[in-house]
Amino acid sequence: MKRSEVDRSKLSPMMKQYMEVKDNYEDSIIFFRLGDFYEMFFEDAITASHVLELALTGKQAGLDERVPMCGVPHHAYANYVDTLIEKGYKVAIAEQLEDPKDVKGVVKRDVIQVITKGTRIDDSIDSKDNNYIANIYNFDYCYGISYADISTGEVNALLIDGDKDKLIKEITKHNFNEVIVNDTIDREIVEILRSTYNILVTITKEELEDSNYSYIYKDIEDIRLVSTIKHLLYYIIDTKKGDLHHLQKCNIIKTNDHLEFDINTKNNLELVETLRNRERQYSLLWLLDKCKTAMGSRYLKHTIENPLTDKKAINKRYDMIEKLSTEFILRDDLIKELSNVYDLERLAGRITYGNLNAKDLLQLKTSLKALPNIKKILEELKFNKKIDTLDELYELLEKTILEDAPFTLKEGHLIKEGYNSELDELKKISSGSKDFILDMEQSERERTGIKNLKVGFNKVFGYYIEVSKGQKNMVKEEFGYERKQTLANSERYITPVLKEKENIILGAEEKIINLEYKLFMDIREVVKRYVSKIQRIAKIISEIDMLESFSIVSDMYKFTRPNLVNDRVIKMIDSRHPVVEQVMKDKYVPNDILMDKTTNILLITGPNMAGKSTYMRQCAITVIMAQMGCFVPCKSCTMPIFDKIFTRIGASDDLVSGESTFMVEMKEANYAISEATPNSLILFDELGRGTATYDGMSLAQAILEHIHDKIKAKTMFSTHYHELVTLENDLKNLKNVHVSAIEKEGKLTFLHKVKSGAVDKSYGIHVASLASLPKSLIDRADDILNVYEKDSIKNETFTQTSLFELNESEAEENTNEIEEKIKEINPLEMTPMEALNYLYELKKDIDK
Ligand code: ADP
Repeated sequence: MKRSEVDRSKLSPMMKQYMEVKDNYEDSIIFFRLGDFYEMFFEDAITASHVLELALTGKQAGLDERVPMCGVPHHAYANYVDTLIEKGYKVAIAEQLEDPKDVKGVVKRDVIQVITKGTRIDDSIDSKDNNYIANIYNFDYCYGISYADISTGEVNALLIDGDKDKLIKEITKHNFNEVIVNDTIDREIVEILRSTYNILVTITKEELEDSNYSYIYKDIEDIRLVSTIKHLLYYIIDTKKGDLHHLQKCNIIKTNDHLEFDINTKNNLELVETLRNRERQYSLLWLLDKCKTAMGSRYLKHTIENPLTDKKAINKRYDMIEKLSTEFILRDDLIKELSNVYDLERLAGRITYGNLNAKDLLQLKTSLKALPNIKKILEELKFNKKIDTLDELYELLEKTILEDAPFTLKEGHLIKEGYNSELDELKKISSGSKDFILDMEQSERERTGIKNLKVGFNKVFGYYIEVSKGQKNMVKEEFGYERKQTLANSERYITPVLKEKENIILGAEEKIINLEYKLFMDIREVVKRYVSKIQRIAKIISEIDMLESFSIVSDMYKFTRPNLVNDRVIKMIDSRHPVVEQVMKDKYVPNDILMDKTTNILLITGPNMAGKSTYMRQCAITVIMAQMGCFVPCKSCTMPIFDKIFTRIGASDDLVSGESTFMVEMKEANYAISEATPNSLILFDELGRGTATYDGMSLAQAILEHIHDKIKAKTMFSTHYHELVTLENDLKNLKNVHVSAIEKEGKLTFLHKVKSGAVDKSYGIHVASLASLPKSLIDRADDILNVYEKDSIKNETFTQTSLFELNESEAEENTNEIEEKIKEINPLEMTPMEALNYLYELKKDIDK
């Protein structure tokens, strides 16, 4: 049964109410609170029952058929919501807004918040990562992007000019979980974001009018930026509904403030996750993250994604790392103190937004307690960081919140003795009366002679005297006991004295709970006033934590301080790939990366598997680390500041978008060529191999010439077309280098050592032999190869030089159908399995 087809006039009042609520939240699954359950109806119920594996039932709602329904217990709803959010749904929580006890008829219900992927602030979001929601606004010649992390209160905005592809690159680079767009945006963009990148996209044109939040954007002059921020804020405030004043003043991002690179580069260089498993382990982030706080880890990730371009700021970070490394005792003290600091940014979010509990305040207190020491250490280190230690806030928390307070606020046991005299008085009454109960048990036993008489309590009957069945007959009229309840093994009574005490106790306990709740809320109001100060402290702590982490890894992995120069010179001595080095340990061979003022292009030749792409990657990673303000994996490093990095490395083909390897390759090359400046770094790994040899080689050469003559960016270009090495003669800013390998008795050993000059041979087939392909097959491949080389066939799709020579007559003889078969295939279009099967077939033919 569809919701849209229902005759609403026939519906029960509750279901009518549901329909009205749902009308306002068409795109969300409504969790509709009914007593102890959240129920879902109609299409929502059908979807949720599938996704959450719940039983689909029905509810009588006044119609002929029952309305589809499923539900979850209210106390366990969070996990179900998580699952739905993960799958890309939005969930609107509709609560009962009145106590059913106080109302006749249908209780008022409405949505108190909508939970979406990008607006979550609960504990299930990754503490080491930001959770961004963005607004994209299209103007005539540019796009406005604003984005916020509601859990930390960070708000950013930027303008980018350019086309759709550039916009999508920008969006994917920031890893937004959710994007809001206005309704005039190109629908193709929406489609790409949704289906290719799995981003939750909402189209809306609403804009914020509430001036309470104008402080976020009031200093911004560009009305385009203001407009995108206001659209973002409208959506956030409309979904979260609570107080969001922890959202901070918007930070305007200027693209030239940062070393720019796109998502492909971020992926290719495995900056925050590995290519293969998309895991943090073995990424650069994993290697560098020795942060003690979640804030530090998040800031580190942000820094990897946004290295600096300001030399002064970078050098300042180097100075601080150097200081931390020399003053290692102070550094140890700092680490100890930082370990006591909780996630202040997210605590600040919870303080304002409202889902704060006593444990959060205890975490805040523990964090504040560490501040005076941190401040002292920073002073001793002569770091110019002003930390406000918020002593009065610490004292307030210290004297108010009980150390073992529970998570819930409605059970009492939150506030310490001595803070509020009324509360202390009530607690005295309550505990005094409890003593009275114990005394009473004692005295009643003596008075009645019933030895196992007990005084107990339960929620339904209150306090009672319990006598076991065996001793029931000992209860006499004169005791004044009034029978209340008969159980299988005992009898329960009350007396007027007990009842009177009970009223006092229960009254006091209820008052205690209410008063503690009120006091807690008052304290929260006070804490709220400190939110912006807490956020400021959080910023300082994040940066210090990151630098402390840099200092640790620099010592651990022998990183050195780079020397940033204005000349366009790269001189990285004994450079290493920091992650590969850690995996290989002392087997790793360091290499120099040298490009003097006149060298812009390094043309890198060498056999497959020799280490060409690792060599290029380590250069880019070193640049990124240096501009993050971190030390670098080299013995010494001199380099200029780069503005952008472009990479086309490895086989990270854009499988999702369904484009061919070659198409992706050419698009990447085009992107680099159109965006690079003389201050950029370009890495091209085997560019052009996705097409036939002569095509690929010609393209590679043309691209090299273009970069050489027009762009002049520092470029590393690896190739197996060693015909290209002769370019060194014509292009004066191009230098050949090669990664060496030695060949003994037909076997290859890789030295991984980069040397100047060109390699004269390629050893593809030998790499195949390393992969343990059958010897007969390898020999055969060598033969065929020679035929290609000798015949200089014009339209072949495959070329490799061999170390072995074969005379022409032998080659003639071997020209057979196998060769034809090999000509027919394009290895780049085959899966490894298909290739292996094909080889297997070939071998069978040879055996025949
Ligand atoms: P290519 O790009 O030339 O095909 P890669 O850069 O992918 O080669 O390197 C192949 C393998 O060689 C890597 O997986 C790595 O284990 C190893 N390797 C690369 N560079 C070095 C080095 N400098 N020292 C030791 N091993 C290396």
